[in-house]
This record gives sequence, structure tokens and C-alpha cells, in this order.
Amino acid sequence: MANQHDLVVIGAGPGGYIASIRAAQLGLNVACVEKVKELGGTCLRVGCIPSKAMLESSELFHEATDGFEKHGVRFEKVHLDLDAMLKRKNGVVKANTDGIDYLFKKNKVTRYFGTGRFTSPTMVAVDGAQPVELDAKNVIIATGSVSAPLKGVELDGDRIGTSTEALNWTEVPKHLVVIGAGAIGLEMGSVWARLGAKVTVLEYMDRILPGMDTEIANEALRLFKKQGFEFQLGVRVTGATKKGKTCTVTIDGKPSIECDRVLLSVGRRPTTEGLGLDKAGIALDERGRVPVNDHFQTSHPNVYAIGDVIRGPMLAHKAEEEGVACVEHIVTGYGHVNYDAIPNVVYTAPEIASVGKTEEELKAANIPYRKGSFPFLANGRARALGHTDGRVKVLAHKDTDRILGAHVLGPRAGDLIAELVCAIEFGASSEDVARTSHAHPTLAEVVKEACLAVDGRALNA
Ligand code: FAD
Ligand code: NAD
Repeated sequence: MANQHDLVVIGAGPGGYIASIRAAQLGLNVACVEKVKELGGTCLRVGCIPSKAMLESSELFHEATDGFEKHGVRFEKVHLDLDAMLKRKNGVVKANTDGIDYLFKKNKVTRYFGTGRFTSPTMVAVDGAQPVELDAKNVIIATGSVSAPLKGVELDGDRIGTSTEALNWTEVPKHLVVIGAGAIGLEMGSVWARLGAKVTVLEYMDRILPGMDTEIANEALRLFKKQGFEFQLGVRVTGATKKGKTCTVTIDGKPSIECDRVLLSVGRRPTTEGLGLDKAGIALDERGRVPVNDHFQTSHPNVYAIGDVIRGPMLAHKAEEEGVACVEHIVTGYGHVNYDAIPNVVYTAPEIASVGKTEEELKAANIPYRKGSFPFLANGRARALGHTDGRVKVLAHKDTDRILGAHVLGPRAGDLIAELVCAIEFGASSEDVARTSHAHPTLAEVVKEACLAVDGRALNA
């Protein structure tokens, strides 16, 4: 006899756990199936949270060795206790994953521990220590993604690893080669560079962070080079192998590189293996994703999909927004995600954040725009912090002044972008933000000045 639920969610990452909680708030009898004991998915276990914990700790170490002296704070000796740093990171992860257990109990979401697979469009079998069959009115696929492999790169679960291994290395690499200059490559590269590794980044495109505003990405590239990163752009990696402690990375038409650690970070691919999608009558698209309509409905009207397993940026908050919109649509008939107002943040130093259109996208679409840009160097708070690299760049429609895109490279860019996300969500003009009072002295004043600069009237530059 199958257990009955209004909604079965497969996967307890940010998409799945948020969808489960929202559905429970709306009065549904919800089940969430997760194959890993700890809830929270890639994001909480091996993604956003542990990487940010390591970024925070490694930045403090770097500041202690390099930055504090400028503030007149001197230490006799600073040394790295990597063991303690990793333990702290694990503690941060545990606090977060335990938090989801608590939220599920609080909201009366039934958790099933095991691997979910369709046996029909509305029946999900849970394989595990206690196999069970679930009968659901609706099912949401929220199975996320895993690291994409690269032909010739022989992952060994240690020296030649993905982000999961790079979050757990118990010694600082002497020379780390990073394949792919996207978010993972630059964030994890930053962690190990700050802790003392020589870092070489190999990127297929002729630029870093494809998809981000080119001007901002190029300025970031210059800063990363100043930090000691080595880059080879426009190169095609053909393999990576290990012999003893030495790894060899081969590059098409270029000399190969010997190093002691390799991080493969060339993107992620949707997780759909073993889900039994054929039993639900669902076929994947050409990139292995579950196709959905604007309401996250698959080709079967009672089966939905959200997060990394569908189209769009692979971001935790995007998965969360989709989880909420999908469930609200199921229950109320309404639910919407504004993809023009989904921020994207890379948590390097300085941070890089963006929302809306890039300058290249506006040019390609022939949309007339005005641009306002303001440097952190001219901001009192940034000077006081000692972090003056970068700028805020705002792109507004030439005729209506409506903000179409915003790009921030600088200290706490990930927090500063929130104001510009709100501005885009509310259809604000650059003048609206420029006329808003911003506390002094704050980094947020750079956002205001960039908006003033759209009209050529920045006050402090
Ligand atoms: P996931 O988080 O991948 O969760 C899917 C869950 O489904 C997993 O727990 C999996 O075990 C489970 N599952 C899969 N198949 C089954 C099955 N058949 N049965 C039961 N359970 C199943 N994004 C950001 O926005 N900000 C960041 O700072 C950030 N940093 C990142 C750092 C790293 C190193 C990585 C790898 C990713 C990072 N991301 C970040 C991306 C972010 O983690 C993902 O976009 C997000 O986790 C996607 O959420 P999801 O719910 O779609 O899937
Ligand atoms: P990515 O898509 O961000 O970057 C991959 C990079 O690898 C690209 O620059 C690409 O051009 C390059 N590349 C592809 N094939 C290559 C090859 N053969 N040789 C050299 N370079 C190659 O992917 P990622 O950094 O692995 O991250 C995966 C996903 O996780 C992304 O979608 C990202 O949004 C998400 N993520 C987000 C954050 C964040 O929001 N801060 C952090 C980490 C990961």
C-alpha cells in the first residue's frame, strides 16, 4: 500500500526544500525524498555554504598575513591551522543542514531517506534501507546537478578533483591548476591562493566569467593577476593524469603543466540518471535538462521540475524562487519568477555581482542606454576599509531611465547588488535610486553615485 501525499518533492536542495516548506505553509501534505542523509543539497553540503566558509576563513588568513599591518595591527607570527579551518567549515555546514531537519519538522514535511524514482507519473518509489512507494497528486523534480566531466581528465577523488574534493584538501597545494575560469574555479582558486598555493587558471574562452559584463570581468581579471593568479585564456585542456603526487595537465598546442593538484570546474550537468523519467513520459532536452513550461510543468501536467535540473542559471536562489513559484502555481494558479532580476555573485576578493543585462546584451539587442560608473576609490568607507578596488556600473534605458542592468566589482558587492535587484524588480529609474538617501559613510553610496553618474552628475568624482 503506497503512502499518500498531495505533493512529493524529489531532492532536498534549495529548490526542493524551499518548495516543500512553501507547499506545507499552503496546507499541502508534503513528502520530500532525499538520497543523502544530510538535507540541503549541493548548496548546503558541498556548494555555496562550505565554499563561503572557506572563502571567509582564507580571506581572514590572507588579511592577517598581508592586510592587518596597514591598519597598525601586528602579529608576532601568523600560521595556518588548516585542520581547524576545515573543522569550522564542517561545523558551518552541519548547522545549516541540521537547520533544514528542524524546518521540515516545524512545517510537518515528511522526509523519506532514499533514492526516488518514478514508477508512473504520480507514483514514486523510494529505494533505500526502508523502501516505500509514494502516491502523489503532484511531483516536483528537484534533483539538481553534479560536476560535469571533461574528456581526458582522470578524476581520482583527490588530487584531480572537482569542487567537492577542493573543499576538503588537507594540505595546501604547492601548485594548483584550475580548469575553467567560472565561479567555482575563481572562488576555489582564491581559497587556495590565499592559503599559499600557486594557482594557474586555464580557460577555454578568451576571457574569464563568460556571461558576466565584459568590462567588469576584464577589470576583475587584472585584479586577480595582481593577486598572483596566472591565467592562460583561449586554451583547450585535453587531459589531466596523475603519477604519484604529480599531476600533468595537457593543453592543445601548448606545453603541458606539471602540478600537485587539479581542480576541474567546467560547469555542472543536471542529475537525472535513475529517475525513471520514461515512466513519467518525460524526455530530456539536448543538454540533458528536464524541459518545463513557464509554470515549471513538464510534458506531464502533474510533474514539475525546478532548479539546476531545468534551464537557466545554476544558482541556489534561482532554484528557491522557482520552488516557491511552482508550488504557488500548483495551489493558487499563480506563480512567477522574474529572471531579469536574479542576481549573480562571485565571492572572490573583490566580489563580483551582477543583475539584469550586460552592456554587450544591450548593444546586441539595439537597446539605447546610458551608463553610469563610479569607483570605490572615491568612497570614504571603502578607503577606511582599505578596499578600494572596483566600481559600480549602472545601465539605464536612454529614454525612460529605467535600470536595465547593474554590475558591481568591489567590497561586499554581493550585498550591494540587493538594492539594484530591488530597483529592477520595482521598475525603478536610475534617478529613483540617485534621489534616495544612502547612509554615510557606506559602500552603498557608490551605488547612489553610479546612478547619479548615469545622468553625468556624480557628486564625489
Ligand atoms: P541541489 O542543491 O543539487 O540538490 C539536489 C538534491 O537532490 C541533492 O541533495 C541530491 O542528493 C538529491 N537527489 C538527486 N537525485 C535524487 C533522487 N533520485 N532521489 C533523491 N534525492 C535525489 N549557487 C549560488 O547561488 N551561490 C553560491 O555561492 C554557490 N556556490 C556554489 C559553490 C559550489 C562549489 C557549487 C558546486 C555550487 C554552488 N552554487 C552556488 C550552485 C548551487 O549549489 C546550486 O545552484 C543549487 O544547489 C541548486 O539547487 P537544486 O535544489 O536545484 O539542486
Ligand atoms: P561555469 O559555467 O561558471 O564556468 C565554467 C568555465 O569553464 C567557463 O568559463 C567555461 O568557458 C570554461 N570551460 C568549459 N570547458 C572548458 C575546457 N575544456 N577547458 C577550459 N575551460 C573550459 O561553471 P563552474 O564554475 O564549474 O560552476 C558550475 C555552476 O555552479 C555554475 O552554473 C555556477 O553558476 C554555479 N556556481 C555559482 C557560484 C556562485 O553563485 N557564487 C559559485 C560556484 C558555482
